[in-house]
Amino acid sequence: MHATMKAARAHNLLAAFAVSWVSTSNGQEVPTNITKEDLAKDNKLFLRLAGKALKWEEPEEPVKIAGPLHFVGTKGLGSYLFVTSEGNILFNTGMPSSGPMIVDSIKKLGFKPEDTKLLINGHAHSDHAGALAYLKELTGAQVAIMREDVQAIEDGGKDDFHYGWDWKVMGFPPCKVDRILRDGDTVIMGEVRLTAHHTPGHTRGATTWVANIVADGRSLTVAWPDGGGFNPGYRVAKNPSYPGITEDYRRTHHRLEMLKPDIFLGSHCEWFGLEEKKQRAATEGVKAWINSEEYRRFVARQKRAFEDQADREMGVPAPMEKQMTK
Ligand SMILES: [Zn+2]
Repeated sequence: MHATMKAARAHNLLAAFAVSWVSTSNGQEVPTNITKEDLAKDNKLFLRLAGKALKWEEPEEPVKIAGPLHFVGTKGLGSYLFVTSEGNILFNTGMPSSGPMIVDSIKKLGFKPEDTKLLINGHAHSDHAGALAYLKELTGAQVAIMREDVQAIEDGGKDDFHYGWDWKVMGFPPCKVDRILRDGDTVIMGEVRLTAHHTPGHTRGATTWVANIVADGRSLTVAWPDGGGFNPGYRVAKNPSYPGITEDYRRTHHRLEMLKPDIFLGSHCEWFGLEEKKQRAATEGVKAWINSEEYRRFVARQKRAFEDQADREMGVPAPMEKQMTK
């Protein structure tokens, strides 16, 4: 198979977790004899393949991004630390295995894990909420979660509309929530202001966080779009995974389109090209992270993938080229 086709195929398989990952990876590690249906049926396989191909559990050097904002995640999963004069905020905790790696990264940057006062999250799946319980226990931080994801965080994923039945495979250690967030709620700590946008679809309580920070005397808006992607086996239009999911996704894509961040980051690192940005930032500084145009393209691509999926479910044929150029 031609390399581009192979990559496109691997891309389609894992589209939900990483709509743009073929742009930064050649997809060699994804066996090509596995179909989307196989992945939809076998969560363990999906988890293993996505985790390996997208490097979810490989350690990554931490780095300062801009002002108070630092990257402390793994090669594939974005976790972020905001360092403020009133304590620190940790955003996303990766897989259940990621806890110690995140702690190491915080220490490597010269900060103390126990200065973490607040834990926030993008959505209640094991690749982002995996080490919440571990880090809450270790730091004593409060956990703030969007209302519609609270149940899933507290029961370790049993409440998830798609994976709940298979929580032994797809779940994560449950974590007590201290503060329940609603759409538009803000978190202010020191010089950092974060706004939680409720952007459901991927999970019922998926949350797009937007941060206002100051770096080198300049005010910057940073966004972590969440909720707009779908996983193998999700039904987004016909026999929907939950009633109202179609409308949720469309509203979410619209909400995401309205945002105009200076910096676009994500819970998955291939979305925004972590490695490339890090390399450029070594010489260019904060400027390397400014990528509003990439944000716009990312949201357009997610929206397109969703509408194509909705068309497929409704029996509207999609031309081959349309699938290849996503
Ligand atoms: Zn997810």
